[in-house]
Amino acid sequence: MKKMKILSFLMAAVLILACNDGKKTEKGATLMTQAEEVPVQTHSYDSVTADTIDVEKVSRTKGEWKQLLSPEEYEILREAGTEPAFRNVYYNNKKQGIYYCGGCNLPLYSSNTKFDSGTGWPSFYAPIDSKLVKRKIDRRYGMERVEVVCAQCDSHLGHIFPYEGVPTEERHCLNSLALDFKQMDI
Ligand SMILES: [Zn+2]
Repeated sequence: MKKMKILSFLMAAVLILACNDGKKTEKGATLMTQAEEVPVQTHSYDSVTADTIDVEKVSRTKGEWKQLLSPEEYEILREAGTEPAFRNVYYNNKKQGIYYCGGCNLPLYSSNTKFDSGTGWPSFYAPIDSKLVKRKIDRRYGMERVEVVCAQCDSHLGHIFPYEGVPTEERHCLNSLALDFKQMDI
């Protein structure tokens, strides 16, 4: 039993390190304040435009969340879990459309800022608008990482890491299970 526990801890550590892409988050402090530099999306999204999205507060009890979500979704969104690399629905999704929060349906990311990071998780260089997500310091597992959560329902989406070669120089490493994709022309 103890062995199992150690094994699952190690597996979690491997997943986290893999998501971290081997890079240290020495730029963590910068990532926490970079939200303003993210360009505001101005394309029309069939009513999904930054200035038409209202962020309200959504709060639910633990029991309500458990009723609403599958156990796997609950683990990611409400317990800040991480799904396996390359074994998730959206990492290789190249279709045009919008990614909504799996907890409250707020439109968060668009395929316009999605890129292939090779990490096995869906990666974006910016949300549709910086007001749609919040950044938090995550000190679990002896590391300091920047966690990204939905601004409306506080559900865990993933983490933000420095990444060279994209306009914002940061990668939003997200869990597919935290998102619902709707295909549309954008
Ligand atoms: Zn949400």
